[in-house]
Formats: sequence, C-alpha cells, structure tokens
Amino acid sequence: MPKKIVLLPGDGIGPEIVAEARKVLEKVDQLFKLDLSFETDLIGGSALDVHGVPLADSTLDRCRSADAILMGSVGGPKWDHFEPALRPEKGLLRLRYDLGLYANLRPAILYPQLADASTLKREVVAGLDILIVRELTGGIYFGKPRGIRTLENGEREGFNTYVYAEHEIERIGRTAFEMARKRKGKLCSVDKANVLEVTVLWREVMDRLAPEYPDVQLSHMYVDNAAMQLVRAPKQFDVIVTGNMFGDILSDAAAMLTGSIGMLPSAALNKESRGLYEPVHGSAPDIAGQGIANPLATILSASMMLRYSLAQKEAADAIDAAVGRVLDQGYRTADIYSEGMKKVGTAEMGDAVVAALAN
Ligand code: NAD
Repeated sequence: MPKKIVLLPGDGIGPEIVAEARKVLEKVDQLFKLDLSFETDLIGGSALDVHGVPLADSTLDRCRSADAILMGSVGGPKWDHFEPALRPEKGLLRLRYDLGLYANLRPAILYPQLADASTLKREVVAGLDILIVRELTGGIYFGKPRGIRTLENGEREGFNTYVYAEHEIERIGRTAFEMARKRKGKLCSVDKANVLEVTVLWREVMDRLAPEYPDVQLSHMYVDNAAMQLVRAPKQFDVIVTGNMFGDILSDAAAMLTGSIGMLPSAALNKESRGLYEPVHGSAPDIAGQGIANPLATILSASMMLRYSLAQKEAADAIDAAVGRVLDQGYRTADIYSEGMKKVGTAEMGDAVVAALAN
C-alpha cells in the first residue's frame, strides 16, 4: 500500500518551499523504495479564496485518511481583515483539533556551520540538538472556566483555568519518553511544582512512568530555572517535556538559540503517531514570490515526517545528512548568508539537497 502524504502548501512562500520538500521526498522515495504517493490541497488564505473557508471539509477528510501531512504556512495581509472565524490560521487550528494532534515536537538544532548566526557564543551553541515536546491541546490555553467578569465593586477580573487530567499528562509523557529513548536517553520534565498543584500532578505522573523506561534518565526542573539554563548552557538538554504554555515560551526561546528561523522544523502528532509537519516560520509575505525563501525548515520537516509517522529512519537520516553536506559545501539562502558563502535561491537550495542525497 502506498503511503499517502497530503501536501498543503498554503500561502505566501508556502508553495515555493513545499515544492522543494516534495523534490527531496521524491528523491528519497526513489533511493529507499518508500512507495510514497502525494495529494495536494488548499489551506489558509488560498482555501478562503476558493472555498470561502480556511479548511474545506473535503480537505479535512483527505487529511484524515493520510499517513502524514506536510504543510507550508498560512496567512498574509490579503486576509488580515477577515473576521476571526475566517482567518487563515483557523484552518490550521481546526486541523490540529480534529486530528487530535496533542504532541508538538520542536527540535532546536544548530548546525555547526551556522553557529555564528546565534546571538549566543559559538562554544555555547555549536552542535546544539534539543527536542522540546510540548503538550498542544490542553492546559491553560483550553481550560474552563475562562473569561473576563465584572466584580461587585465594578472592577473587572480576567481568569483562566490551568488544568491537566492524568491521561493527558500520561500520553504526552509517554511520547516524550519514547522520543528520549530514540535519542540520547535524557528527559527533563519542566513544571512549576513549587507553586502550581496541576504541575505537582504532572511531576507525579512523570515519576510514575519512569520505571517503564529504564533506559531513559528522567530529571525535573522548574520552568524559571529551565528558561535560565536554556540560555546559559543549552547543550545540557536532550529532550524537554512540558505543558502547553511553558512549552510555547520555551520552544520559541530554544528556537532562537539557533538564530535562523528558516532552519527550524516542527511536528504535531496524534496517538497513532500520524501527524502534521510544518516549518516553524510563517508565510513570509515580505519575500513571497521572489524565489529566495529558505526551504530547509520544510525539507527538515519532511525528514521528521519520515522518522516519526512513516518509520523510515534511514531515509530521514539521509535527508538530515544531505542538509549538513549542503551547508558544508557553502550553499546559503539569503537569510543564513554570510560572506564568502554561495548565495542561492529556494529552488537551487532544494536541488543542492537532492544532489547531496544522490552522492
Ligand atoms: P514569518 O515567520 O512569516 O516571517 C518573519 C521574518 O522571517 C520575515 O522577515 C520573513 O521574511 C523571514 N522568514 C520566515 N521564513 C523564512 C524562510 N523560510 N526563509 C527566509 N526568510 C524567512 O512571521 P510573520 O511575518 O510574523 O508572519 C507572516 C504571516 O505568517 C502572518 O500572516 C502570520 O499569521 C503567518 N504565520 C503562520 C504560521 C503558520 O503557518 N504556522 C506561523 C507563524 C506566522
């Protein structure tokens, strides 16, 4: 049975970068006999233009029956004035929600060749390779009750609820232990158990799971300390697991350690490890249509897709190695360019990765 991959190029630079990722996937398909099949559909502003909604039911059905989904990015000034329910990002939120994509994987990898792009000292970040596993469908972003109410004295009060049920903690915990097991075997669970009861329970559940993964070394850290450690000595971390809000903040901080948004892939997985893969960056309307966007974050998202949803480790390793080789050869898109390197456009970068795969 062919593996069905749905491509959702989206808006802005999305179609340009997804086209390059497809070239790379077609090459590994040929090299590793993966039997991939591709279907392309609309999301975000491009879906609004055609269907009047940012994610059509037919697209959702197609995604439900896919083995994995590779997205570019959504949004742009053309659709900024649309009412909230019809904003391009609503299409993405609906997709995440309907497919139950509760585990957000955000690697922060700094290729040694790009160490000078970071605002941190080279020796602190060169070779950095962290995976942040963020719970994506629960916690304070979804907890009820929530709202803004007026008190008896007329003052207004805003309130949210930070809640996690044991099963939600357990499933993200298991995802993180499994990830750590496939990497260096170190898992750091980040909480605020000195103040918040919900994270006392979080810590208890992580400790309860630990004996089932004797090959993984579990540690705990308070979120304030984790923020400090991420900028002080980030290479101490292998896998970090945390809730939705802490993960939102820490993953952006970790991403910026690398200094180049055009290099960062991400994944959101459901309980069957089917997932949505996309670059961390947005649709970059300022450079769309110019053929200069960096396709590597999307190509690396395709590699994550092979690794985590299609169990094709060898093909994923080959893509990661090819990206490393291309950087070694000095190829750079404008966003990661430094003097003395070979400046290339989107398609040339994709071609260079394809060529590196063949060697
Ligand atoms: P952005 O990530 O699109 O762009 C920020 C800056 O980084 C821009 O200068 C852009 O040119 C540059 N950049 C981004 N990706 C790049 C790449 N691959 N190569 C080279 N340079 C790159 O963020 P923004 O400008 O805040 O948002 C633009 C639009 O994207 C908005 O409509 C926003 O809502 C949307 N957005 C979508 C997603 C998503 O689809 N998941 C995520 C973030 C933002």
